[in-house]
Parts: sequence; C-alpha cells; structure tokens
Amino acid sequence: MKAAVMHGVNQPLVVEEVPEPKLEYDEVLVATKVCGICGTDLHILEGTGYKPKLPHILGHEPSGVVARVGEGVSKFAVGDRVVPNIFFTCGECFFCRTNRETMCTNFKGALGVGINGGYADYFKAPAKNLFILPDKIGFKEGSVIADAVVTAVHAVRRRAMVKADDVVLVIGVGGVGQSVIQIAKHAGAKVFGVARRAQRAAVGEKFGPDVVINSSTQDVGQAVSSLTNGKGADIVIDNVGTNQSLTQGLSAVHRGGRIVMIGETDDTIPLSTFKLCVNELDILGSRSGGRQDTVEAIQLVESGVVTPFVSDVFPLGKINEAFESIREGNIMGRAVITMAD
Ligand SMILES: [Zn+2]
Ligand SMILES: [Zn+2]
Repeated sequence: MKAAVMHGVNQPLVVEEVPEPKLEYDEVLVATKVCGICGTDLHILEGTGYKPKLPHILGHEPSGVVARVGEGVSKFAVGDRVVPNIFFTCGECFFCRTNRETMCTNFKGALGVGINGGYADYFKAPAKNLFILPDKIGFKEGSVIADAVVTAVHAVRRRAMVKADDVVLVIGVGGVGQSVIQIAKHAGAKVFGVARRAQRAAVGEKFGPDVVINSSTQDVGQAVSSLTNGKGADIVIDNVGTNQSLTQGLSAVHRGGRIVMIGETDDTIPLSTFKLCVNELDILGSRSGGRQDTVEAIQLVESGVVTPFVSDVFPLGKINEAFESIREGNIMGRAVITMAD
C-alpha cells in the first residue's frame, strides 16, 4: 500500500510503498478515505512532544471503509463506513472502567502517534475502537470527529463540565476550538472566543460564540471583564497551551473558576501558589477522549450541533505542502488528506 512515512525528525514525509498492516484476531483493516492533519503531527515531525519509533506513519484523524476483518470480529462487515477512537487501551483497568480511557495504565498507543496511522491506503484498529460513521456524515467531516471533535467533547463535558449560563472563554478558535465553542453553546453557556488574528476571529465567529476577542488588539482580561460586568469567566478552555495563553486565561477567570488545558507545549504554568490558593482555582488537563466521547462526538455531528470545518483538502502526494501551509498559519479550519479511490 501507499503511505506517507516519517523517516526522521524535521525531514519531509516520503510517500512510498509499504506492507499492509497484518490483522490480529480482534482487529479490523480500514481503507482510509480521509485523514485530518493536527498540530500534534507537526510537533511529532519537529521532534517535540511524542516520539514514535521510526519509520512511522502519522495521521490520527482518519475516516474510512472496512476492507477486511479479523477472525474474531463480528461487529463489522466489509464496506462499513467507520471512524476510530484513536486510544488503543486495555479496556479493563480502573481508568478504562471509569470513562477515563486516555489515562489507561496498560496503554498500547494512539493511532498515528505511537502506532502507525492514517496517512496510508489502510490502517488497522481493534474492533472495539471503531464506530459506524452514519451515512449523513461525509468522510471529510467524519475524519475530524476522530480527534478535533472527540477532544472537544471530552474537554467540555468531562473536564470543564460546562453547564447552562456558565461564562466560557475559549482560547484558540482553530479546529478543536471551533468544536469547543459549538458544544459549549449547545450546553447553554455564554461563550467568548479568543483569536490572535482578525482573519481567524472572523472565522471563529461563524461557530456561534457570543463574541470573539482579538488578542492582538485587545487585552483579554479587560475585554472579558467588561463583557461580564467585572465578574470574569467561570471556565476557560485553552486550546493553545502556551505561557501567553495561560496568562490570558488567568487574567480572565474569576475566583473559584476553572481552567481546562487542551493545548500541549513544554511551557510551564505562570502562576504563584499564593494566587492559586487564595482564588481556589481549578486547573485541569484534558487529553483527547475515550470511546464514549467518540459516540457523543458522532451524535453531535450527525444532529448538526457540531459542524466540522474542513477548509483545505490535499491529496496524499501533497502532504508536505499541507504541513507547510499549517505551519505558515494559512489554514482556517481543518486541513485534510484525501486518499485516491
Ligand atoms: Zn490531534
Ligand atoms: Zn486500561
């Protein structure tokens, strides 16, 4: 099969012939239709964050069609349209049993991150990690479910526990942030977005927040204060994860508030323990999402609550150009790779 293979840090991916994945008893082979590109892919390629064994096939946001099933699989048939939950977990440990699968203590790896992923004609996954993609959802929008929508469901519902009338500040209105805004609005919250550029702010506004603050021209803390009569945000969901974004979040959250971090970088938290204690702040990390989050993500897209925004489509052969466009900040929604039929 054809795949875009990572051979080294900071080297372009090489599109080449590789062997098809071999199926185990409980696994399913999926013919990739579309695979989204995420900031995490760029981090892996740049040698920051996750470090897969090389050579490696990236791509953790695929959708596709079942091509073959392992001997022990009865739930799926050839031709089924599917989307994966990318966390290949044991399903049995404390965290798996309590819907905190991304904390699995016997973790086997995430599709496209530690395990070969979707920038290929085929990828394989355990049957328990695959879910039917309803006919109503196209493969492009469906691919975004696997990472951007699932991550947003987990952050908004499990970690931030957004409820009606909460004031929620969403920092970063790209792929994940757009889903976060839509799910938080659906929960009945008042939602403010933060974007660093006017063009991004304009795109972010399409996803239904009450206001998008342009952080290049406005002070985020002051803007939130004036929007809330001096009170501040109940919840901050930070999709960026830098010292700068967390400083913005801390300036906007009111005492007793909650900050949920989705963006992952090496930056540390710019906060004194004094401020943390006297303000009784909750600062929570959020990592991707488990299988129940995937089920809910599919429902949210099917029912139209979340509309994934696929802004740019590249064939597999142009994957390095796609990465470059993301790096340059030219992509306003999700960029995806499509596989030839
Ligand atoms: Zn991702
Ligand atoms: Zn487990």
